[in-house]
Amino acid sequence: MSMEKFRDRIEYAGMRLLVRELEDLGRSPIFRVMQSATTSHVRVADRPRLMLGSNNYLGLATHPAVLEASHRALDLYGAASTGSRVANGSFDVHAELEATLAQWHGTEAAMVVTTGYQANVGVVSALAGPGDTVVLDWAAHASLHDGAKMSGARVRRFAHNDAAELRTILAETESPVFVIVDSVYSMDGDIAPIDEIAALCTEFDALLLVDEAHGVGIFGAERTGAVEMYGQAPAVDIRMGTLSKGIGSIGGYLAGSRDLIDYLRTYNRGYQFSTAGTPASVAAAAAAVRVIRSAEGAALAQSLLDNSRLLRDTLRAKGIPVEGTTVTPWGDDVIGPIVPVPVADEPALIEQWNQLFERGIFAGISVFPGVRLGSPMLRLCVQATHTTEDLEFAADAIADTYRHALAPSAS
Ligand code: PMP
Repeated sequence: MSMEKFRDRIEYAGMRLLVRELEDLGRSPIFRVMQSATTSHVRVADRPRLMLGSNNYLGLATHPAVLEASHRALDLYGAASTGSRVANGSFDVHAELEATLAQWHGTEAAMVVTTGYQANVGVVSALAGPGDTVVLDWAAHASLHDGAKMSGARVRRFAHNDAAELRTILAETESPVFVIVDSVYSMDGDIAPIDEIAALCTEFDALLLVDEAHGVGIFGAERTGAVEMYGQAPAVDIRMGTLSKGIGSIGGYLAGSRDLIDYLRTYNRGYQFSTAGTPASVAAAAAAVRVIRSAEGAALAQSLLDNSRLLRDTLRAKGIPVEGTTVTPWGDDVIGPIVPVPVADEPALIEQWNQLFERGIFAGISVFPGVRLGSPMLRLCVQATHTTEDLEFAADAIADTYRHALAPSAS
């Protein structure tokens, strides 16, 4: 009887059926296999395509210094770490990267975890527990929500970027509170009001974690992320980031006080009970951070921001709605690497994605559960290495195919 229940769950799962149907028709926008590196131009389904769906924002996944460091580590340490950091999975490249991340973020310490997902699930579930309250922005990354669920704490969510609602929740909560936000939102592309959130956490004595997965390498004079750009580094207890997007490798990190990081080294289960990142990927991340901190890194970050703005403005000039813009408290109009274009519904999105694919463009998409049900988007990810011609070509194609999709009612 119980096996039948599981069989039914698998057999009638709507998403599974939809993906199978689209794959059978050769029209699935997801699970596509590339035959090249994830640069601004890729090879997918045996054809070159313009890539607008990769998080390789700064192009560092194939930077010569990154590849050289990675090759060197591969030769020296072999293909795998084969152990948890607690036991036999720590190499000198891990220690070096952690020291660099701490120094770069101006924190006492930092730790590297095999993936960003594990870093988040691990840190939230290690710090919060029954009797505490975890308060998250509704749009914070799934890994943060999963960690909150796993922690056994009471979980409350506030409307996206709504500091007023956060204040209301903090004012009515007596238990110890852990507030969690992304800096740059992975689907909406916009930036949290980090100054207001940090001030509320100080006022209500709450612990604050900011996930910089999409901000590190891009924002701030030192390019540690949007926390730095908002001048809030001293007010943020835990700065989390991934090594897998702008940093062009794989892994996650947590930076904060020495006590906090020592606590996490001994209580973060995603760190303790999983094999450490491969030395080649850790060495690649360390080399990428060196590039990011150099004048070349500053130029790459600027080029990325210029490109995002160009794509947004070109699309808007063609009448296409674009979200993801933030106006900072000092009046700057900022759009980060994610340029979201809302589309009427999932069938319209799939149709448009396929038309773009036909024209040689690989676009990113956001659908439920990554975004609210009924709010699908083209999620265009810009790279520093895209050219003006690339982005104008993409904007033309998107504007052309958008006509074939239903325009959203409120844009
Ligand atoms: N946080 C955010 C905001 C993310 O977008 C992601 C990746 N999608 C993660 C955490 C997880 O990072 P990783 O891919 O390194 O596991």
